[in-house]
Amino acid sequence: MIRVTWATLVLLPMFFSIGLVALCAVFYTVRARLIQRNKSQDRIYRCTVCAHVYVDARFTGLVRCPRCGCLNEPVRN
Ligand SMILES: [Zn+2]
Repeated sequence: MIRVTWATLVLLPMFFSIGLVALCAVFYTVRARLIQRNKSQDRIYRCTVCAHVYVDARFTGLVRCPRCGCLNEPVRN
């Protein structure tokens, strides 16, 4: 039979739980920073023909409007 002390019986699950919470905190912090960085790189376009406003993350000078296909420059970087 395996002998386990009360301290081990209490501390081992507690450390495991704290470690799991810490891993979740790191994961969600990194994910939130990646999402924020991706959003800041998006550019806003307004079509000069149909006035459709859309967002695109590509780094080309002109992007086609998804509604009418006209090429447009970014309104805001
Ligand atoms: Zn358009």
